[in-house]
Amino acid sequence: MAEKDHKMKATFLGTGGSVPTKKRNLPSFAVRTDGGLVMFDCGEGTQRQFLIAKLGFNRPMRILVSHMHADHILGIPGLLHSMSFMGRKRELEIYGPPGIREFVQCTTETVKFTSMFPVRTFEVRAGTIARTDAYTLEAAWADHGVPCLAYALVEHDKPGRFHPAKARKLSIPKGPLWKTLQTGKSVMVGRRRIDASKVVGPPRKGLKITYAVDTRPCDRVVLLARGSDLIIHDGTFASDASERAREYGHSTAAEAAKVAKRSHSKNLALTHLSAIYDDPKQLLLEAKRIFPRTFVAEDLKSLELS
Ligand SMILES: [Zn+2]
Ligand SMILES: [Zn+2]
Repeated sequence: MAEKDHKMKATFLGTGGSVPTKKRNLPSFAVRTDGGLVMFDCGEGTQRQFLIAKLGFNRPMRILVSHMHADHILGIPGLLHSMSFMGRKRELEIYGPPGIREFVQCTTETVKFTSMFPVRTFEVRAGTIARTDAYTLEAAWADHGVPCLAYALVEHDKPGRFHPAKARKLSIPKGPLWKTLQTGKSVMVGRRRIDASKVVGPPRKGLKITYAVDTRPCDRVVLLARGSDLIIHDGTFASDASERAREYGHSTAAEAAKVAKRSHSKNLALTHLSAIYDDPKQLLLEAKRIFPRTFVAEDLKSLELS
């Protein structure tokens, strides 16, 4: 069986919904991968959270915007401005539903902001939206009343761990032969053929994180999230406000738990909490009854997935 022994660091930058509270900034979530930083949504004030979380202003970076509601996008101009000011040089990519390009253009042009680094925007729909050496980004339409995308970051599987001691024992000289074995190919040492499996462990399975806010519980999200190591899901309300959740295109914590369960995800983070919940205990209890591996996301909390 494939082993999982590498890490991906995920940081919640904002975990409130609609309006910020003393404890919760507006939605934003960042993941540090081998291929750089992937940020999901960028609510107002994210630039400061980003600074506090020490995520680094010059990494390769992509921002994935779920939808065009103010609480998810108003942080973009400020973040671009701060990054420019801090000396970012690398290109930054912004993905989102139709409208995102005009938003970025208007909010930078009207304040006469000239970015010191290239910013490219991509208007995307459901499907594979980007692929790098390290991961693939998938999108699916959520259910929120306006065009809203849920995203999955799917890391590629990695070659197994190379064991130098085993290679030495088999008298394989260090150098190009080791490199070839590390890629999983067999090599010839004199007349001996040596299979990579003799010195390389089993492949390491890539991690998967799914981000789904703001949304009603939805089959497309369940499909997108299949087998996630972590699903971050809209958990705006408790069950006694389920009518409100339906009316505004959100989910209750229990509904989020059902999505996590149906998608065979391993862990669930509830986010986009309504400002009416100063203490999220009720939300957590209701979700845990259905999906025990639930936690409530908190601003500036990081977790390492491995
Ligand atoms: Zn929202
Ligand atoms: Zn919304």
